[in-house]
Amino acid sequence: MTRSLAILGATGSIGASTLAVVEEVNTRAAARGEPVPFTVDSLTANTDATAMIALAGQWRPAFVAMADPLAGAQVREALAGSGIEVGIGPGACDAAAARPTDVVMAAVVGAAGLAPTLVAARRGATVLLANKECLVCAGPLFLAEARKAGATILPTDSEHNAIFQVLGDPAQVEKLILTASGGPFRTASADQIAAATPEQAVAHPNWSMGRKISVDSATLMNKGLELIEAALLFDMPEERIEVLVHPQSVIHSLVAYRDGTQLAQLGCADMRIPIAHVLAWPSRFETSVQRLDLAAVGQLTFEAPDHARFPALGLARAALRGPPAAPTVLNAANEVAVESFLARNVGFPEIAAIVAETLTQASRRGLDGALASLDDVMAADAAGRALAREEVARRAR
Ligand code: NAD
Ligand code: MG
Repeated sequence: MTRSLAILGATGSIGASTLAVVEEVNTRAAARGEPVPFTVDSLTANTDATAMIALAGQWRPAFVAMADPLAGAQVREALAGSGIEVGIGPGACDAAAARPTDVVMAAVVGAAGLAPTLVAARRGATVLLANKECLVCAGPLFLAEARKAGATILPTDSEHNAIFQVLGDPAQVEKLILTASGGPFRTASADQIAAATPEQAVAHPNWSMGRKISVDSATLMNKGLELIEAALLFDMPEERIEVLVHPQSVIHSLVAYRDGTQLAQLGCADMRIPIAHVLAWPSRFETSVQRLDLAAVGQLTFEAPDHARFPALGLARAALRGPPAAPTVLNAANEVAVESFLARNVGFPEIAAIVAETLTQASRRGLDGALASLDDVMAADAAGRALAREEVARRAR
């Protein structure tokens, strides 16, 4: 059976990995004379018109959306006469999610992913959830809407996908163990971390990813966001989710059961593996991704995270224990702080400092108290961004 697919954030790292898996499984099926598993119905992106024009030429989707107006105009001109409809603006990205596709890959980066992913969930689609920020900033509301509509949310972030693959009866689970590579500064001194450049921060040792998540991996905020994501997806309290640094990124996470058993999912560090899993779920696809050779890896090592050099993880834990909208504020402040770091307006250690100060200010002013509606999400997100921008201005070099 052929299923139709929409990819939100098609020009990014996850978008590319998704299309690579689709291309492979479609080619294999066609070679066997079988119907292809997927047709690509719609693709969305923000500013990268050149990449979108190329993707549209290759995949011939029915609909393409660009959030950025200038890029949208460029794509519309390039695709004139092609029969491909081009939508422009954030509303057009929502419209792509609203099309009656079977499957939606949610791979926009940041809180910008919330609106279209929510549209897909509300119409009961199967949502492959790579974007973590939308759960962090609106988790309980997002999941309630998805449940109400009968949507299927499949965890695609590698740690959550690993847990999803080894999760048996939730009542028997003692704790979840999220593994973390430790990022590019795992062995760096505090002084080296203080002098870290954007180039060093985005050079992840094991994974090739977008710039924002790469910086989050370097601060360990990525693991903090994933902690919040795991608490929501698997309905697990904060104190029963552990973080374990595992530099080889071979074990993608573990579930510990009450009889002392721990189950783990292993594989090479390649997002095409969890993506192929959710695309095929509950079945599996044959893929050509590199096979894990444990003899060649030789040793797997583990260590506890160092909260002194990497305070972001503790901030995320505190936000998860805190008022309802504290994670929303944390996420908003982190997006602003990471952007400012990438623009070289603040230094690397200031990312966590800006998030910490924003959380303090938001709490002092009572801006993190409510998360009962999407208006509350928008308000906490806006407050977090405004406070973080003030903090950036105060610190700007
Ligand atoms: P990326 O920066 O490579 O790509 C982001 C995509 O989102 C691009 O297509 C971009 O055009 C689009 N986009 C950005 N801002 C937008 C906006 N305002 N409106 C509409 N579209 C917008 O990011 P990525 O590394 O592919 O990550 C995507 C998401 O998946 C993130 O939430 C990240 O945390 C999560 N994730 C990524 C990886 C990975 O290996 N890259 C692994 C796990 C989870
Ligand atoms: Mg991850």
